Amino acid sequence: MFGFRKRRREKLRTKALKPEWKEILIKNVEFYNYLSDEMKKELHGLIQIFLDEKEFEGFDGLEITDEIKVTIAAQACILLLHRETDYYPTLHTILVYPHPFYSHIKQRLAGGIVVEGEQGRLGESWYRGPVILSWDDVRRSAHDHNDGHNVVFHEFAHQLDSESGANEGAPLFPNRSRYIAWARVLGEEYQDLLDHLKHHHKSDIDDYGATNPAEFFAVVTEYFFEKPIELKQRHPELYVQFKNFYKLDTVAMMLTHKN
Ligand SMILES: [Zn+2]
Repeated sequence: MFGFRKRRREKLRTKALKPEWKEILIKNVEFYNYLSDEMKKELHGLIQIFLDEKEFEGFDGLEITDEIKVTIAAQACILLLHRETDYYPTLHTILVYPHPFYSHIKQRLAGGIVVEGEQGRLGESWYRGPVILSWDDVRRSAHDHNDGHNVVFHEFAHQLDSESGANEGAPLFPNRSRYIAWARVLGEEYQDLLDHLKHHHKSDIDDYGATNPAEFFAVVTEYFFEKPIELKQRHPELYVQFKNFYKLDTVAMMLTHKN
């Protein structure tokens, strides 16, 4: 990496976060309140680097405010905590619509993309391209913690997935044995989900995860951050894989927070 960028990042990493931004985090990003003080500090640094390097564009009359930027950046950066990262290197722009954009976006951006309009999950992530979000949905999912859904976690999981060179439910791993364990556990759990649905049984994992392995990874990422206690109880092996990948013990974080 160029020395200039490295130095700039170092500076931003340790810069104190504006108090009004902290207020936004406390108010809008429920998961923020589960972080220890040390993790909060780390997150503040990640957010400032993210906001320095990414562009936000508002559509349909939406004016991009600090609230929008900080709320989205914080959740994108929660996925980066404790990990070695290059801050979503192929992502440059986050496009934000005021409301769900299902129909018109589909026409405008036809070809090579997946529009996620089902079950209130409204966002998109392009392979090596932008993330597109509806602010309505971002706000709702950040507030409604524990409902199992979070559109920002979902779309940025796709971004992490693409760092391995393809969107196929397998992000980058530090070594081959970690990848093999991941592929085995996720492969089995994905098949279980397909079997459940084939027999018309509802699973605790959202049906949308059955679309393909990339969606499975994104859907379980939401589950891991939103309802970790349930995930660990029902799918202990899956929980371990996600805990190792994200380097966070979300169950412990929630239990500590409760006390
Ligand atoms: Zn998706």
